[in-house]
Amino acid sequence: MPKHEVNFYNLSFNEVISRFKTGDNGLTLEEAKNRLKEHGFNKLPEEKGASSIKLFFAQFKSVLIYILLIAAVINFFLVCEESKSLNLSISDQADTYIILITVLINIIVGFIQENKAQKSLQALKKIISLSARIIRGGKEFVINAQELVPGDVMLISAGDKIPADVRLTEVEDLEANESALTGESEPVKKTTVKLEGELPLGDRLNMVFTGTTITKGQGRGIVITTGEKTEIGRIAKLIKETKDESTPLQQKLNKFSKSMGIVVLAVAAVLMIIGFLQGDPFIEIFTVSVAVAVSALPEGLAIGVTVILALGMQRILKQKALVRKLVAAETLGSTTFICTDKTGTLTEGKMQVTDLITWDHDFNVKKTEDKKLRSKENEEMLFALHIGLMCNDARIDNIDDDIDDWIISGNLTERALLLAATQAGLQYKKEHSLYHRLDSIPFDSEIKYMATLHKMDAKRNIVYFKGAPEKVFNKCTHLRVGNKEVKFDEEKREKFLNKFTTLSNKGLRVIALAYRHIPVKNKRLADVNLNTLVFVGYVGIKDPLRPTSKETVEECHQAGIKVVMITGDHKLTASAIAKDLGLPCAAENILEGQELDKMSDDILKQRVEEVFVYARVSPEHKLRIVQALRKRGEVVAMTGDGINDSPALKASDIGVALGSGTQVAKETADMVILDDNFRSIVGAVEEGRGIFDNIKKTVLYLISDCFSEVVLLTGSILMGMPLPLVAGQILWINLVNDTLPNLALTKEPKEQEIMFEPPRGRKAEILTKDIKILVVFVSLFSGLCGLGLFYFFNQYYDNVVLARSVTFAMLGLDSLICVFSMRSLRKSIFQGNLFSNLYLIGAVIISFAFLAAAFYVPLLQQILKTEPLQWSHWLLVLALCLVEMGLIEALKFIFMRGRIKLISK
Ligand code: ADP
Ligand code: MG
Repeated sequence: MPKHEVNFYNLSFNEVISRFKTGDNGLTLEEAKNRLKEHGFNKLPEEKGASSIKLFFAQFKSVLIYILLIAAVINFFLVCEESKSLNLSISDQADTYIILITVLINIIVGFIQENKAQKSLQALKKIISLSARIIRGGKEFVINAQELVPGDVMLISAGDKIPADVRLTEVEDLEANESALTGESEPVKKTTVKLEGELPLGDRLNMVFTGTTITKGQGRGIVITTGEKTEIGRIAKLIKETKDESTPLQQKLNKFSKSMGIVVLAVAAVLMIIGFLQGDPFIEIFTVSVAVAVSALPEGLAIGVTVILALGMQRILKQKALVRKLVAAETLGSTTFICTDKTGTLTEGKMQVTDLITWDHDFNVKKTEDKKLRSKENEEMLFALHIGLMCNDARIDNIDDDIDDWIISGNLTERALLLAATQAGLQYKKEHSLYHRLDSIPFDSEIKYMATLHKMDAKRNIVYFKGAPEKVFNKCTHLRVGNKEVKFDEEKREKFLNKFTTLSNKGLRVIALAYRHIPVKNKRLADVNLNTLVFVGYVGIKDPLRPTSKETVEECHQAGIKVVMITGDHKLTASAIAKDLGLPCAAENILEGQELDKMSDDILKQRVEEVFVYARVSPEHKLRIVQALRKRGEVVAMTGDGINDSPALKASDIGVALGSGTQVAKETADMVILDDNFRSIVGAVEEGRGIFDNIKKTVLYLISDCFSEVVLLTGSILMGMPLPLVAGQILWINLVNDTLPNLALTKEPKEQEIMFEPPRGRKAEILTKDIKILVVFVSLFSGLCGLGLFYFFNQYYDNVVLARSVTFAMLGLDSLICVFSMRSLRKSIFQGNLFSNLYLIGAVIISFAFLAAAFYVPLLQQILKTEPLQWSHWLLVLALCLVEMGLIEALKFIFMRGRIKLISK
C-alpha cells in the first residue's frame, strides 16, 4: 500500500491503479473486507453531541436554579439566625429542604427531557447517510459510504456528494463544485491526465474530494483516501458544523419567558415590600416571594417546546418524511402552498411506453412484446425503439438476470424506453457493442433533450437525438419514411403536430426521436451541427397517478392548503393530469415556463395566487415561483430532486427533497420525503399542525398555572390576610404536582379536526385571543377560589394550618382536573376520547398520589406544614374544581361557535 506522501495527481491513473492493486473489476470482496479492517470506517471524527454529564451540569445554568439555590442559603441562615442554633430539626428547616428538593427535581426532569430530545435528534440525523456506487468483484454495488476503502473503484455522476478522495480514471464532461473545500463557487472541470508539480487543492483537476459535489457529467475513479486522511478530514477540526439554530418560535418563547421573568420578579419584590410593611415575619415573606417568583417563571416552556418539536420529528418520520431541521417541524403546520413535482411524486413514476408513432405507423401498445411489432415490416418502429435504447443513460444493474427481474436505474423516462426496446427484442449488450458510444449530452430539464454520438460503420458515425417535441421539431430538416429520408415539409409537420396534441391530451408524456449520419472523423458532438436532423417519430409514455394522490389533494383543499403542480411536461399533458387530480385547470390556472420567462416579478406576484399548474418549466423557474409566493406572505413547501433545484429548496419555507433525489438536493432541503410520495408531504404537514397544537396546549397549561398563584398571593396580601400558602406548598404544586401532566401533554395525539381548518399562516401567535382569555379566566378563578377557601376556613375554624391545607388541595387538584379540558380546544371533554393519551392518565394518577402524600405522610406533613383533610374537605375542593372545569368547557363552547360562524361565512 502506498505511503500517503505521494501526490496521486502527479501519477498517471494506471500507476495509481497498480499501486492500489485494483483494476476495472475493482477490489475483490475479500480484499475490500481486509482493507476495511486495516483503514477503518470512512467517517470523520464525529462531532460529539453534548455528553450526558455535560448536559446534566448545563441544567444548573438557569435563572430558576440560581434563584432557588440562593434562596435556600439565605433561608438556612435566616432560620439559624432566628433560633440562634445550627442544629435544627427537619421541620424548622423545612423550607430550605423543600427548596433543595425542588432544585433536584427540576434538574432531573430538565436533564431527562433535554437528553431525550437530543438523542432523538441525533438518531434522525443518522438515518440519511451518504451512499456510494462502486465496483467490486466485477459487479456494481451501492454501498453505505462508510464502507468505502482505498482502492475501491467508484462511479460518479451529477448530483453526487463525494464521500472520499478519489483519483479520476474516466470523465465524461465531469464538473465539481468544490466550494466546501476551496471557497471557489464556480464548478471546476475535471480531467484524468497526470499533472506536474505541487498543486493547491483547487488545481488538482484529476481528483475529486470528500464533501464536494458533482454538478455535471459522469466519471469513475479510484478511492485514494478515506475518513480522517481525506483532505477535508485533515481540516475537519477547523470546520464547525453549523449549530442547530433555535427556531423563531423558540426564540419568541425565550423572549416571552424573559419578559415574564422580569414582571414576576417585580411582583415578588412588591410582595416582599408590602408584607414587610404589614409586619409579617421576614423569613416567611422572603420564602414566599421566592416561591411565587419561582412558580411564575415559565422555565419549563422553552424545553417543553423543544421536546414537542423533537417528538414531532419522530412522528413525522412515521409518515415517511425526515425533518432535517428543527425549524421545519415548527413551520410545516403553517404551510399554505405545497408546490410539488408531478413526476414520481403525484404520479407513480412507473413509466410505460404506450404509443409509438412514425410516418406510416401508429402503434398503441400494451406491451412491446407484441408479435406485430417485431415483424420485419415494422422496421420503422424498431428503429425508433433503437434510438430510445441508444440515446439513453439508464443502466441495468443485473443484466444477466431474467428480463422481468431487471433492476434498472436512472432517469424514469429512459428506464421506460430501455424496457420498451428490450421487450421488443432488441438486445442491450449487442446494440451497445455494435454502436459504441463516443460522446453524449445528457438529458437535463433545462434543455429538455439528449443527444449521443455513436460509431456506426467504416464510413459513418451516427447521432441519436431525443427530447421534448418542440425542441426536436425545429432541429429537423428531414423525415424518415420507410428507410428513406425525405424533406420534412409543412404538410408532414402538420400531421405530427396533430398526433402530438392527441397523445398529450391523453395525459401522456411525449418524446420525439431523431438521428443524423455524420462522417467518421466527427467524434465529438461539439463538432456536429445538430440543426439538420432527421425526424423519426414519437413515443408516448404513460405515468399513472398514485392511487392516493387525488384524495390527498382533496384533503389539502379541505385544509385550506393550495396544491401546485410543477412539471417539465407539455401544457396539454399537464392539464390532462391536473384534471384527473382535481386541480383547477382553466386557462388562467396554467402557466408555461416560456410565459413565465417574459413576466416581470411584479406581474408574477399577482399571477401566482391563481396558477395551479406550471408546465414546461425548468428548475430555475421554481425559484421565481417560490419567491413570488413568499412575497405574498404565503408559507411555501417546494419539492425538488436535482442539483438545479437547490436554490428553490433553499428559498422556500420548507424545502422538500425526494428520497430518490440527488445528495445535493437532500443536503439543502429542510425535509426529505423518503418514499417520494406526495401523501407523505401532506402527512408531515398534518403532524406539523399537531405539533403547533400541542405547543399551544402546553403554554396554556403552564401559564395559567403560574398565574393562579400570583393572583392568590397578591390578593391575600392586598386584603391584609396571612399568606394562604407556605413556600413549600407553592413549590410542591409547581414542581412536583404539575410537572408530569405537563410532560404528558407533549405526547397528546393530534386531533382529527386539524385538517379541516384553514392554515394558520406565517404570523400566527401561540397566545391567541382564546388562549389569553382562558389563561386570565383560569388563573382568576382558581386564585380567587383559593382565596375564598382560605378566608372561610381561617375565619370560621380559626385554623390557619387547615385553611392553608384546603387551599393547597384546591390549587393542586384543579390543574390535575382541568388539564383534561385543556387537551382540546376544539372538542368538549365529553366528545373526546378520555383515554387517547394514556401518559396523561398515568401522570395525573401519580401526581394525585404525590398531592395526597403531602397530607397523609407524616414527614411531608412536617415539611409542607399540612394537616390531614377530611372527606368533606375533599368534596368541597372537588366540587370547586369541577365548576372550574365546567366554566372552561363553556368558554370553549363559545369560542367554537364563533369559529364555526367564521368558517360558514
Ligand atoms: P418533470 O420534471 O416533470 O419530470 P422533465 O423536465 O424531466 O419533467 O421533462 C420535461 C420534458 O422533457 C418531458 O415532457 C419530455 O418531453 C422531455 N424529456 C423528459 N425526459 C427526457 C429524457 N430522458 N430524454 C429526452 N427528453 C426527455
Ligand atoms: Mg424530471
